Amino acid sequence: MNMRNELFIDGKWAPAARGGMLEVFNPADGKAFHAIAAASAEDVDRAVIAARRAFDDGVWPRMSGRERAHYLRRIAEVIRGRLPAIAELEVRDNGKPRAEAEWDIGDAAYTFEYYASLAEKFDEERSEAIALPDQRFKTRVVREPVGVVGAIIPWNYPLLMAAWKVAPALAAGCTVVLKPAESTSLTALELAAISEEVDLPPGVLNVVTGLGPDVGQPLVDHPLVDKLAFTGSGAVGSRIMAAAAKDIKRVSLELGGKSPFIVFEDSEIDKAVEWVMFGIFWNQGQVCSATSRVLVHEQIYHKFLERLTAEARKITIGDGLKKGVLLGPLVSDLQHQRVTAAVEKAVAEGATVVTGGGRPKELETGYFFEPTILTDVPLTSSAWTDEIFGPVVCVRPFSSEKDAVALANDTRFGLAAAVMTRDAGRAERVAAALRAGTVWINCSQPSFIEAPWGGYKQSGIGRELGRWGFENYLETKQVTAYVSDDPWGWYIKH
Ligand code: ADP
Repeated sequence: MNMRNELFIDGKWAPAARGGMLEVFNPADGKAFHAIAAASAEDVDRAVIAARRAFDDGVWPRMSGRERAHYLRRIAEVIRGRLPAIAELEVRDNGKPRAEAEWDIGDAAYTFEYYASLAEKFDEERSEAIALPDQRFKTRVVREPVGVVGAIIPWNYPLLMAAWKVAPALAAGCTVVLKPAESTSLTALELAAISEEVDLPPGVLNVVTGLGPDVGQPLVDHPLVDKLAFTGSGAVGSRIMAAAAKDIKRVSLELGGKSPFIVFEDSEIDKAVEWVMFGIFWNQGQVCSATSRVLVHEQIYHKFLERLTAEARKITIGDGLKKGVLLGPLVSDLQHQRVTAAVEKAVAEGATVVTGGGRPKELETGYFFEPTILTDVPLTSSAWTDEIFGPVVCVRPFSSEKDAVALANDTRFGLAAAVMTRDAGRAERVAAALRAGTVWINCSQPSFIEAPWGGYKQSGIGRELGRWGFENYLETKQVTAYVSDDPWGWYIKH
C-alpha cells in the first residue's frame, strides 16, 4: 500500500505550506520508517476554507441522506477490501497486535456502514410537524447539518477514532477537517485516499497532519469552524472547550478516565481475571475506558490477585506483527517515559509492584512495557487518581458493597465502570449507583457502534456513537408559518 506523506485538502494532495515534515516511528523497534507533512496554521486555514466552501456552496449538505449513504457504504467497502493491509499499517504506526488492529479496522468499516443506514433513515426523519394548540400556526422542526466540523483525534485507535467522527459527520451532511494524532496519522491519510477513490466531492473531507499546537490549535481557533469534536487528554480537552467558548462553537469531548471494576465475592475467579485483563491489557492499556482500578472483595482478594499475577506473567509481549503476541509496544517513546514515570511515582508513594513495572528484560529496543500490577496504592497517589494510559492496574480489597461503590465513584472521571457478580439484583443496584457513561456488568470494554459512548464528570461532554453520535452533527431549526386568513392585526387594527 502506498503510504501517503502529504496533506489532503480540497480533494488534492499537497505538502505543508512551510515544507515541514515529521518522522514516523515504528514503536516495535523505535526506528523511523516514513515521514509525514507537518502542517501549520496556513494549511489549516486552506483546509477550513475548503470545507466551508464545500458546505456553503457544495452539493454535500444538499444531497439526500440516501445519496450520502452511497458514499459511506463505498468507503466501508474499500476499507474492508483492503483490511489486512490497513491493519498492518496501523500496527507499524501504533504498535498494537495485528489481531487487535484487524478488529479495529473492521469496526471502522462498520461505523461507516452503520451511519450510512442512519443517513438513509434521516430522509424520513429530518422534518417533523409538531402539534400546536394555536391552529393559526403550523410548525415543523427540521434537522440540519451543523456545518464545518474540526475533528481532533488521539493515537490509541487511529482509524477507528477517525471513523467515529467522520462517519456520523458526513452522514449528517457536514464537511470535515480531520487532524489525526501526530504519532499515528497513516491510516487517516489512507482514509483520505479512500475518500478520493470513491469520488467524495472535494472539500468534504480534509486531512491535515502535524503537531497539536501547530495544527489542532489553529483548527480549534478558526472562526469558520462550527463544531469541534475531540478525543484525547483532559488537559487538551479543557483548552479546546475554553477556545470554543470564545465564539460559541459546538463541542463534544471524549476525555480520559480512571474507570473502576468491582469484583464481588460470588464471582468466578477465572472469569473475573479474564475480564480484568481485557480491561487493562487490551491495546497495551492505552484505552480511555480501561478499568485501571480494580476493587476486589476481601474474601477472594488474595486468590484473585494470585491468579491475575500468574496470568499477567504469561502474556506474550513483542512486535504486534509477530504471531501470538498479545501485548505490543506502547505507542511512542514519550508514552513509554510517561508510563515509566507514573509507576516510579506510585512506588515512591507507597505502592507495591506485584509484577511487571518496566521494560521487559528480553526486549531492549522498542517502547515495550510489561503488564504491571500495583497494590497498596494510597488513595491519594496519582497512580490511583490519574490516568496512566498503559498496562498498569491498581488492585485493592474492599469489605462491603457500600464501600466498593464509594471507592469506585471517588474520582473526577466518569467514563466507564464495571461490576462482576452472580447476583442480578446487586448488579442492577451497583450499576445504578455508579456515576459513569457506561457500566459493564460481568464484562469490561465491549463497545458497540449502536450504543452511546461518552463520559460523566471530567470524562467529557456529549455522546458519540449510535443515534446520539449522529445528533452531535445536527442543528435544530423551527420553521413556523402563519396559515390563517384572518389578519394578525396587532398594530394595524389597534
Ligand atoms: P496525548 O498527550 O496522549 O498525545 P493529547 O490530548 O495531547 O493526548 O492528544 C490528542 C490530540 O490532540 C492529538 O491529535 C494532538 O495532536 C491534539 N492536540 C494536542 N495539543 C493540542 C492543542 N493545543 N489544540 C488542539 N489539539 C491539540
